[in-house]
Amino acid sequence: MFMKRLFVPSLLLLCSMAQADTLIHVGRLVDSESGKVLKDQSIVIAGNTIKSVQGGLVDKAGFDQYIDLREYTVMPGFIDMHTHLTGDELSATSYNARFYMNPADYALQSTVHAERTLKAGFTTVRDLGDRDLVSISLRNAINKGWVIGPRIFTAGKSIATTGGHADPSNGIKWELMGDPEAKEGVINGVAEARKAVRQRYKEGSDLIKITATGGVLSLASSGDNAQFQDDELAAIVQTAKDYNFAVAVHAHGSEGMLRAVKAGVDSIEHGTYMTDQIIREMKKQGTWYVPTILAGKTVERYAQQDGFLPAVVRPKAATIGPQILDTFSRAYKAGVKIAFGTDAGVSKHGQNAEEFVLMVQGGMKPMEAIQAATINAATLLRQQEKLGSIKAGKFADLVAVKADPLKDIGSLMKVDFVMKDGKVYVSK
Ligand SMILES: [Zn+2]
Repeated sequence: MFMKRLFVPSLLLLCSMAQADTLIHVGRLVDSESGKVLKDQSIVIAGNTIKSVQGGLVDKAGFDQYIDLREYTVMPGFIDMHTHLTGDELSATSYNARFYMNPADYALQSTVHAERTLKAGFTTVRDLGDRDLVSISLRNAINKGWVIGPRIFTAGKSIATTGGHADPSNGIKWELMGDPEAKEGVINGVAEARKAVRQRYKEGSDLIKITATGGVLSLASSGDNAQFQDDELAAIVQTAKDYNFAVAVHAHGSEGMLRAVKAGVDSIEHGTYMTDQIIREMKKQGTWYVPTILAGKTVERYAQQDGFLPAVVRPKAATIGPQILDTFSRAYKAGVKIAFGTDAGVSKHGQNAEEFVLMVQGGMKPMEAIQAATINAATLLRQQEKLGSIKAGKFADLVAVKADPLKDIGSLMKVDFVMKDGKVYVSK
């Protein structure tokens, strides 16, 4: 007891010493809230927080650390709203991995993906579906400083229906299939829907992910059929509200997508066969769209190679993959709210920024694509007070490139500077 009292003041002193102020001079600062570029700005950082942002290049005197980004374009740290850090990029052997990879193998592998993602400029990600709850342990390990990686908001295990996309026992021999239930993220009926959401809470998820329609990569025949009934969707949305969970919805087909939007979910992921009626409904409800064009492009490419994808998956990849860019263009033109997401884990981790290039190809202005990956994503995360723009009081998450990304969006695929929580992970 006595020792404890003695230690407290010295600990406090250490903390205040560690809060040394850093000054950054910035040539071009992207203000993601106004969509404007501000020239010659000074950012002051204390600990993991932005203390102030001022116009002009203030005097360096009195600061403990100085970072010169006068030749650079500085943006808020990027946010990828759809990743699977615990999944390796898709390969011809992906479908066998679950038979020889242990949870610890997935966990260690995910640390490599996490570091690559952060160093590509993605300081925050949502993880939308893992196995063995590895993303929850990964998030905690990063927060504790054991592992280098982005700030993670994870859904933990995705919620599916029996035989649906994200039923972990799909496509294996009957003897091994078993009958997974709410605990394993598979539900049938209202009571199990509620239980599955509560189970995610118990396990430490930050949000809920459901698979409202078939999916491209699951070992099942349909890539787009509806897989939840209205009462199940209503039960999930209602229960999620009790825990302040957002609900992210994987959807390709229009029927399952429309049911989910009408149930009041927060975001539609992929959204491949989004009809005009769904677009109207999403605008009415304020539903976000996370397109994952890169995932579509990636599976389209794999579908062209013989023997790469299982026979049941290949035709789905060939038809659904190429559609997403067109859907993105239509949704963007119609004014649906869009947040950046890649489905990395289908594509290679660390190449997330290719999505920016595809978004611009699909008709978005470069500034809007950057906003989708910063302030829009932060808003969908319900973290707009702390993330998504370079403002006093927010986390010191910054990315910089020497080029002008508004003229050359591809320059974001290799960033020159990454800071997360006030700490530099990449510098020129
Ligand atoms: Zn996904």
